[in-house]
Formats: sequence, C-alpha cells, structure tokens
Amino acid sequence: MLNDELITYMQKLIPDRTNLFMEMEEYARENRVPIMELEGIEAMLQIVRIQQPTKILEIGTAIGYSALRMAEACPSAHIVTLERDQERYEKAENYFARSGMANQITLIKGDALEQEDEVRILGDYDMIFIDAAKGQYKKFFEMYSQYLNDTGVIITDNVLFKGLVYEKAEIEKKRIRNLVQKIDQFNEWLMTNDRYHTVILPIGDGVAISRKK
Ligand code: SAM
Repeated sequence: MLNDELITYMQKLIPDRTNLFMEMEEYARENRVPIMELEGIEAMLQIVRIQQPTKILEIGTAIGYSALRMAEACPSAHIVTLERDQERYEKAENYFARSGMANQITLIKGDALEQEDEVRILGDYDMIFIDAAKGQYKKFFEMYSQYLNDTGVIITDNVLFKGLVYEKAEIEKKRIRNLVQKIDQFNEWLMTNDRYHTVILPIGDGVAISRKK
C-alpha cells in the first residue's frame, strides 16, 4: 500500500471539509468508529461524481459519514444505507437531521443480511458501497449485486485490510487470521468473477471497484 510519507502528503493536499464533517471525523477518531479513510473516500467520491448515480445502496452506515459525503458529492443521488448497531444508527440519524441532506437518505436499522426485501423495494441501484462486516463481503455482494443496474458499479472498502492480506508475517490472533483469509478469498473470487471487471486501488484500506461486464 502507499507509504506513510506519501499518505501524509496526499492528506495534506485534501481540502478541509465542512464543520459538520470535521466534527464527525473527530467523533469517529475519539470513539473508535471506523469511518472510511480520507484518501480512500476521496477516491470513492470521485467515482460518485463521474458516475452520477441516481440511487446508491450503502451497507454499513456507522455514524453516517460516508453516506453524507456521497450525498454532498452528488446532490441528485438518493442513498439507502443500512446499520445494525443501535448507538451508531441513532448517531447517524442525528447527523442526517443536522446536515440538511436528510431528504436524500433512507436509513434502515438492521442486519444487512436480513433486509433484502426492503432493499429490493427501494431499488434498483446505480452504485453499491460495501463497508460492513469484512467476513461477510461475499454474502453482501451475492445478495445485493442482483439489484444493480447494468451500468452500475460496486465499491468494496478494506479489501487490503491494513496490508495483512499480502504481508508474509504470521498473524497471532486466530480471529484476525480467519478474517484475513476470508478477505483474501473474497478478493480472489471477485477478481476472477465472470460477470464483473474489478480493479483494486491500493488507497486508504484498499478499495475495489467492480463494474458489470
Ligand atoms: N461507511 C461508514 C463510513 O465510512 O462512514 C463506515 C462503516 S463501518 C466500517 C462498518 C459499519 O457496518 C459498522 O458501524 C457496523 O456496525 C456495521 N455493520 C457490520 N456488519 C453489518 C451488517 N451485517 N448489517 C448492517 N450493518 C453492519
């Protein structure tokens, strides 16, 4: 992945965000909420600006940071976003209300693997952003890619998982080792998928961009 000096340089070049976004970034830092890394989200937002999606499905709202950044980057887009954690859901609801962009967002409370009916009714989608439990990426992809329009894209974050998927060092914790293995298997599956062209950008925590063939 990118080296630390390069990341610092790139982050310094990124313009300040609005006060609300900076407040959310600070809240996330202080409360260890894993929002998307700054360079990673800038790359994703640029795809949103180019793609101009009408409808976006986001799996993994957390406190609503990426949903609001996408809403701001593409004011004509509507975002359907899913979060299972009660505290983060409430925090997101609150930030959406304060943002003045709440009318662009539908927030669904619950496990993404149990919300297919509601997601289907609200679809189809021009973009799907997968940023939830890393061990479930293949399931999310398989469940929701059927609701993607033919010209749509799927963006998956954390596919390089802090470099652990390619570093040779032995991973002590079994839980992390299993997770790394699952992400690695997902990457292999995605890159050889007959129905999608995929590229992995080594930016942020690793961002995969997939488009239907
Ligand atoms: N996209 C957010 C951002 O960049 O601002 C960050 C999302 S954070 C990495 C992942 C979130 O997904 C967590 O808040 C977690 O509670 C939620 N999550 C994980 N698995 C989920 C699932 N199966 N269904 C719904 N939410 C899930």
